[in-house]
Amino acid sequence: MTDQTPSAPITQDVLTIPRKLPETGRTNIVGLTRPQLQEALIAAGTPERQARMRVGQVWQWVYHWGVRDFAAMTNLAKDYRALLAEHFEIVLPEIVTRQISQDGTRKYLVRIAGGHEVEVVYIPEEGRGTLCISSQVGCTLTCSFCHTGTQKLVRNLTPAEIVGQLMLARDDLGEWPVQGAPKDETRLVSNIVLMGMGEPLYNFENVRDAMKVVMDGEGLSLSRRRITLSTSGVVPEIARTAQEIGCLLAVSFHATTDEVRDRLVPINKRWNIATLLEALRDYPRLTNSERITFEYVMLDGVNDTDADARRLVKLIQGIPAKINLIPFNEWPGAPYRRSSPERIRAFADIIYKAGYASPIRTPRGEDIMAACGQLKSATERGRKTRAQIEAEAS
Ligand code: SAH
Ligand code: SF4
Repeated sequence: MTDQTPSAPITQDVLTIPRKLPETGRTNIVGLTRPQLQEALIAAGTPERQARMRVGQVWQWVYHWGVRDFAAMTNLAKDYRALLAEHFEIVLPEIVTRQISQDGTRKYLVRIAGGHEVEVVYIPEEGRGTLCISSQVGCTLTCSFCHTGTQKLVRNLTPAEIVGQLMLARDDLGEWPVQGAPKDETRLVSNIVLMGMGEPLYNFENVRDAMKVVMDGEGLSLSRRRITLSTSGVVPEIARTAQEIGCLLAVSFHATTDEVRDRLVPINKRWNIATLLEALRDYPRLTNSERITFEYVMLDGVNDTDADARRLVKLIQGIPAKINLIPFNEWPGAPYRRSSPERIRAFADIIYKAGYASPIRTPRGEDIMAACGQLKSATERGRKTRAQIEAEAS
């Protein structure tokens, strides 16, 4: 195997790219939590006794109706609209390219402040649809089967950039309600998964604030049960995720011995399987007995034996769980191969017979490199020099 040795570092030698600040002097409303928006409205001259009401009005325009222009906020007085326009803006990241797969999956390349790029994937399904959003440009971690993990440029996304991914997907899908039209309950983006680029728990506060905006019932209104955050196992942030976000949790488990997991998910060297499982045991109780999704990438000859399946079942005993088997998705230069369909089925069978749901994830959007673990931004593919990045950021 051409895999990294067991001594592969937990984090790579990354180049952290700074965020270029907007030059307009106006505050972007997108991504502010309600208290932050209230404070900003007051600072801009909104009388304190009106502030709560104004937050509610603006919130509904921005997140329920998808309005981008203060002039269209017709229940606000003209001079208040002018005050808003003077101090605020409503800005999303920009879609640079959109690719549509044969199976309907859409991949967006999205440009954020500073000229950096992340990928967002929309996966339509029967009667629902899942948006896979990114939390960082690149990732500091070095999981050896993951394309994003080879990307050396890293920056945390802001709450605006995280919420903005959902808003721009709704723009592209034409999913904002039309005033006066009958209410349509079917949602094109019914679920979101934080499974794009980056480790969400290494950008905890921004991810949390973004999810607060997304979950707010008077706006985008996605319930916490329709949001799944996937982590490689940042143990100290797991209880916080339960308490401060309360969404569903998925864990990139991928191996049943520390020796193999150290190689596949090097963060295991910091927090090993036993430590991780201990943190996971408390999660369902803290969030009202939800099942945890154990993600398990099927790598030929690495982690896919019957003995692995049996060990997996034993390890997670007592944790309400479902095991999501992910056939490995290849990328240029990847050091692994996908397990055979027969092997994956045999593995799934053992888990199923032990009483756990064991769905095999169908790879989606492979023809446009949109499947799990294939994302890596074009910024990185046409690698920028350090000087270029610094020049852009200053
Ligand atoms: N950083 C987070 C979330 C992003 S990755 C995490 O690691 O959990 C989303 C899922 O895709 C993870 O379970 C990840 O391990 C898996 N994945 C990464 N590369 C993959 C690949 N090449 N094929 C299949 N799954 C992959
Ligand atoms: Fe980062 Fe997740 Fe990829 Fe690991 S699998 S390198 S944590 S994005």
